[in-house]
Amino acid sequence: MTHVVLGHCCKDASCVRVCPQNCIHPAPGEAGFESAETLFIDPRSCIDCTACVEACPASAIKPEWALTLTERPYAARNAEFFEQAPAKSRPRSRRIRFEQPLGRPSDRLRIAVVGSGPAAMYTVRELLRRSTSVRITVFEQHGEIGGLLRRGVSRDHVGVRDMIRLFDVPFGDDRVTIIHNTEVGVDVSVDHLRTRFDAVVLACGASQPRRLGPTTADRGEGVYEAIDILVAENSGVSGFRPRGPLGPRSLVIGAGNVAFDVIRWMAKTRDRGAAAEAVTEVVVLSRSAPDRASFTPSAFYELLDLENTEVLIDRSGRPPGAGADAPLLRDISALPAADIWAADGPTAAAGLLRVVLSFGQEVTDLGKTEAGGVAVTTTTGRTFLADSAICATGFTTKQIDGIPVDERGVVPNRRGRVISIETGEPLDGLYVVGWAKRGASGGVGDNRSCASGTVTQLAADLHSRA
Ligand SMILES: Cc1cc2nc3c(=O)[nH]c(=O)nc-3n(C[C@H](O)[C@H](O)[C@H](O)COP(=O)(O)OP(=O)(O)OC[C@H]3O[C@@H](n4cnc5c(N)ncnc54)[C@H](O)[C@@H]3O)c2cc1C
Ligand code: SF4
Ligand code: SF4
Repeated sequence: MTHVVLGHCCKDASCVRVCPQNCIHPAPGEAGFESAETLFIDPRSCIDCTACVEACPASAIKPEWALTLTERPYAARNAEFFEQAPAKSRPRSRRIRFEQPLGRPSDRLRIAVVGSGPAAMYTVRELLRRSTSVRITVFEQHGEIGGLLRRGVSRDHVGVRDMIRLFDVPFGDDRVTIIHNTEVGVDVSVDHLRTRFDAVVLACGASQPRRLGPTTADRGEGVYEAIDILVAENSGVSGFRPRGPLGPRSLVIGAGNVAFDVIRWMAKTRDRGAAAEAVTEVVVLSRSAPDRASFTPSAFYELLDLENTEVLIDRSGRPPGAGADAPLLRDISALPAADIWAADGPTAAAGLLRVVLSFGQEVTDLGKTEAGGVAVTTTTGRTFLADSAICATGFTTKQIDGIPVDERGVVPNRRGRVISIETGEPLDGLYVVGWAKRGASGGVGDNRSCASGTVTQLAADLHSRA
């Protein structure tokens, strides 16, 4: 009997390091690690030792015998990953990696970290590991630490949200000071930090919604940002309160995991009889074809597993193209076809939320109708009329005075060293990590190797300066 990695694995690779059989792949540094959605366990090599279960901070590994009905497909998905690969049932050779310490032990380095999300946490952990004398000051604009792990990650992703306990040790270390409610760029300038600290590491994320270019409607009644809904729900005070009816028909613009988070929220709040109750039909407009869609397989299967929800495909949208035999695309193609926007109103059976996926629909205009609804036109020439539109079209890093942000919405950098947009030259003492460095993609655990890369560069720079 093997162990199995579940869909909410966030690739921090803690399990890889402890597996005595080297059966968890792709490992950091191996081909396919960056693009893999999760890691997988090779059932041919696993000896059921449970070391990985204990190491996993997200509770994302289970023995096969303990899988619930909805988790069963993950056993096949783990096995499928290794179908073409030779078995690697041999102990991992322990390579000794040289890790540059952070300056000399006698240096009392002062490092400022901007932000307190997952990237900051992994950065602080890595800095503490490399120096006993370092002093770290974390500046956080909100009253709480955790960044999007606390404010964005959905409440039903319990295993991921539990990773907040990883913050206890590094942020509780007596070499670390946390300054809350202080926005860098507003309450204290970047230039000031650069004069007071040996290095400034920007871990400020990318949580500013990417604006749809062709918008004639302001955010407000009828048009919402997905992230505002999710943050309000996570704040635990009163939850999201729309300024008008969301339904019965709603459009979700964008088809990444955040879009699917909002749909799960709609389905679950309907069950509780709350705000999203009014929505009975939601169409997800994906700019891309199914084979290039931005949601991950586990987000898609979570949607299919929702109770009181039917998921259909709009056959007049772009169909799955190349690679349609891949399991995910096969399952998308097999969705029942929907007639969207039947003239006589939503057609979902009573008590059901109908979700229609429509691919190849790049939005060219989002406006309001005279009747108070929204009208969304796409490159296919179609106009979708609905009671509300929820935008989930990605994120950019917010501009902070003294920090470059390029046209992709990230802080330009070379291996974590911030560079000038104009000259391409490094800006002395300025580093970046996490979503601000890579753009808004990747889960909580992806920030671990990202932080390691930035701190490695910082350590090398300090060494060459000495
Ligand atoms: C809605 C949503 C759901 C997600 N769900 C999952 C999931 O289920 N599983 C998963 O693995 N990943 C999920 N992610 C991805 C995960 O949240 C990110 O990988 C991670 O949070 C990125 O970490 P970060 O530290 O770079 O940025 P953030 O988490 O955004 O942290 C940035 C921090 O910097 C602070 N900050 C910003 N600017 C300033 C400033 N000027 N001064 C001081 N402080 C500042 C912010 O307040 C914040 O605390 C989700 C993301 C979103 C948006
Ligand atoms: S149970 Fe043991 S052998 Fe199997 S994947 Fe986990 S650590 Fe490796
Ligand atoms: S979350 Fe981390 S430890 Fe858990 S399975 Fe994924 S990579 Fe392994």
